[in-house]
Amino acid sequence: MQNFTDVRNLYRGRHVALLTQHGKEAIIGPILEAATGCRVDLVTGFDTDQLGTFTRDIPRSGSQLETALKKARIGMTLASSRVGLASEGAFVADPYTGLIPWDVELVVFIDDENGLELTGIAQGPAKSGHREVNNWEEVVAFAEEAEFPSHHLVVMAKDDQASPIYKGLYNWTLLQKAYEQTASRSVKSGVIVENDLRAYCNPTRQKLIGVATDNLAHKLSSSCPVCVAPGYWMTRTVTGLPCALCASPTRQALADIWSCQHCGQSEEKRRAGALLADPSRCDRCNP
Ligand SMILES: [Zn+2]
Ligand SMILES: [Zn+2]
Repeated sequence: MQNFTDVRNLYRGRHVALLTQHGKEAIIGPILEAATGCRVDLVTGFDTDQLGTFTRDIPRSGSQLETALKKARIGMTLASSRVGLASEGAFVADPYTGLIPWDVELVVFIDDENGLELTGIAQGPAKSGHREVNNWEEVVAFAEEAEFPSHHLVVMAKDDQASPIYKGLYNWTLLQKAYEQTASRSVKSGVIVENDLRAYCNPTRQKLIGVATDNLAHKLSSSCPVCVAPGYWMTRTVTGLPCALCASPTRQALADIWSCQHCGQSEEKRRAGALLADPSRCDRCNP
């Protein structure tokens, strides 16, 4: 088994392959290089849009994590590197109310030399608007809500699959031209305007990719107390904090399980300050 005693220097000077064509290297590179001393190398030569796009032209086939891992592997192969990175976003409804557009960002790190696969994650409100428009005034109203032009837009015909999809529209002249051309082609089908969700077109997404990279950097810097491998992290939450009134276990968090994916070390860490649950959260006192 690999000896990780010099974990702080494990990635110093190491070249890490990052396959991206949407400018993510400018976000991920500096954060990871500062945290680990590695060198993030941009890898090109593969059209990552083949793995799925946010516009309707190419649907993603695997899960978000599968796609991120596949991208990282392709980059590692292209760069002949045993260490690689990739990022993948998903736009969903928020997990709390289901009403707010939500962005989940993953940044995966694969190190085949040390048998490690770590994932940084971040999530938050997205700028991912989508609207059918009937005239230029409606386009303007949507664009303002969509934080155009700092956030770029996409224009396409609603039902006409054959008509072009105008992506990456970043100024009013381009937007108007794309709208007029689409509208003249699709008098009956209507026109869709939406946020362009590719990283370099969407500063809200860029921020979350940065937060996911920070999360990955923290995991890389957290080493196992037994074998010292990087990536020692919370993998599960234990519920059952006792109710302050009746002492029965509640669904409130009591502790976290920390695990090492390298040696299998696992440990339960009691949550700091977690003593008793508020009776309002108790199924028995407040059913
Ligand atoms: Zn370990
Ligand atoms: Zn109770």
